[in-house]
Amino acid sequence: MRPWFTTEQLAPDTWVISEYRHWEETHCYLLIGADRALLIDTGLGICNIYDEVCKLTDKPVTAVATHIHWDHIGGHGEFDRLAVHELERNWLDGHFPLPPQAVRQNLTARPCPFPDGFDPAGYQVFQGPPQLVFQDGHRFDLGGRVVEAVHTPGHSPGHCCFYEPERRRLYAGDLIYKGCLDMFYPPRTLCSFWPRSERSAAWVCGRCCPATISWTSPPPLSHRWRRGCAGWSDPVSSGRGPAFSTSAPSSSTCDPRP
Ligand SMILES: [Zn+2]
Repeated sequence: MRPWFTTEQLAPDTWVISEYRHWEETHCYLLIGADRALLIDTGLGICNIYDEVCKLTDKPVTAVATHIHWDHIGGHGEFDRLAVHELERNWLDGHFPLPPQAVRQNLTARPCPFPDGFDPAGYQVFQGPPQLVFQDGHRFDLGGRVVEAVHTPGHSPGHCCFYEPERRRLYAGDLIYKGCLDMFYPPRTLCSFWPRSERSAAWVCGRCCPATISWTSPPPLSHRWRRGCAGWSDPVSSGRGPAFSTSAPSSSTCDPRP
């Protein structure tokens, strides 16, 4: 059986750490600068991602989540410097919005060869105070390498993408999702933030790295988004957020993902 984590190198100083054995297939991106490293998402927390990170860098690491959903913060407890967008600070610090049983249902929603010794019944969502609370536009200076936070609400109120201007690479979290993208929070429409600034012009030309399922979504994405926006209407009155496909039509259902 393959190890829990699969590590692949995107560039000499950039790695993706994936959890392919679980149906979420989470991807965490390690960006290493001259002075510091940034880990974008920490995965499910089933195995210790810190040990994997230590194999790749000896730089001090800041862990930041694209958003505070359980499958993006599982390893947060292994790091001593956590960063979070201001709108989800409370979700990290004692006010996670889903009950533990709902998270465990998602964790075990599909068969999974969990590692020996792991008990899904005892799974807990990480909660702990962040060391850095940031807003849209915050720049993480890693030393010779800058990563910019881009607030992209919809899937969650504080969802952020992380963008490297010099490399034109976008770490998209759950904004780009193979199949369906659930959006529960304002602005509830991709059209309202697409295009939202001159930065978006670079997004469509560079490489896009989603946080789950497939990290190889090819650019350009712009025509897919616009095609989806063209037929989009705000279903706020339905009581449930819309599901927006950023890929070809899929037979999969749109689970209400936490
Ligand atoms: Zn999510």
